[in-house]
Amino acid sequence: MSLLIALTLATAAATDAADHHDEAPTSEPRWSIVIHGGAGTILRENMSAEKDAEIRAALDAALRAGEAVLRDGGSSMDAVTAAITLLEDDPNFNAGRGAVFTWEGTNSLDASIMRGDTLEAGAVAGLSTTRHPILAARAVMEDSPHVLLSGEGADTFATQKGLEQVDPAYFYTQERHDALIRYKAHVEAQEQLSQLDIDHKFGTVGAVALDVHGVISAGTSTGGMTGKRWGRIGDSPIIGAGTYANDRCGISATGTGEKFIRLSVAHAICTMDVSATPPAEELAKRGTTLIIPLAPHQQLQRAADHLIARVGELDGSGGVIGLSSTGAPIYSFDTPGMYRGHSTSQGWRAVAIYKDEE
Ligand code: ASP
Repeated sequence: MSLLIALTLATAAATDAADHHDEAPTSEPRWSIVIHGGAGTILRENMSAEKDAEIRAALDAALRAGEAVLRDGGSSMDAVTAAITLLEDDPNFNAGRGAVFTWEGTNSLDASIMRGDTLEAGAVAGLSTTRHPILAARAVMEDSPHVLLSGEGADTFATQKGLEQVDPAYFYTQERHDALIRYKAHVEAQEQLSQLDIDHKFGTVGAVALDVHGVISAGTSTGGMTGKRWGRIGDSPIIGAGTYANDRCGISATGTGEKFIRLSVAHAICTMDVSATPPAEELAKRGTTLIIPLAPHQQLQRAADHLIARVGELDGSGGVIGLSSTGAPIYSFDTPGMYRGHSTSQGWRAVAIYKDEE
């Protein structure tokens, strides 16, 4: 989409020359990766310069981890997990270490992953001891006959697959715990808590990559929503809601999960046909029969904007990142900010936080 291209072009000049790869520029990248670290009330005036720099560095590191895989001809699946495992380890994001707390004061982790060429998918919900939920989701996909495992059974499966287990205290951060205390105080005082309240900002992480073999993969990992209870599961581990990939598109979402589930947001974006010819009367009104077809990424952007608007109509909020089959990135979000980044084989790399960076 043009905003991205503008952003990447603008920042490309500032990118370390060593990061550019000697590849003749073509109109389409050979590989491409887009990531997010959640959306929400992320405002410049509330962000210290240090925090701003820290987040950008974390996004940049995740992009580089994905790039390292893709540049060597590695798979989009490996690139997605390389980027997401780094973000899961970073307490700045609501995934892995730094996950939000449940009502009961525990961390309960969800993740999913999907590859677009085969439509294989794996997901986990309610993990409490597996350090990297995205790797557990991948193991479900590659090494089990199932798509979605939950709770203790999912941790047991991950253990059996040799994935690193940690004491649940590993996921604890003071900041997230304080957010739970504030949230409970609000709820107990029966105050209306805005979905965009800082305690409820969405820090889910996700990545979508296109590899040199033309395969798109998408993944998402989260701690869910602060104060979730009764075993609540959001959209992130639901294939088709928080994550989807096929041969024309990959999507990872963040936001009020219930609304994303009801609209099957990720699947709807990847499968929506927005190229339909306008009705004859409308063409007559326009005085033309000339139809300029939308490029794949324009179609995808239009579909994403449509779905995010529909989430808003249901009183939800959030955003998505995605890639088209040509490797062009799309973003759509209705919040003041979204942690995000994109890089390609053509040497573009950019990260952004605030809406006005578009
Ligand atoms: N979508 C996630 C959920 O509902 C929350 C988030 O995006 O941060 O669990």
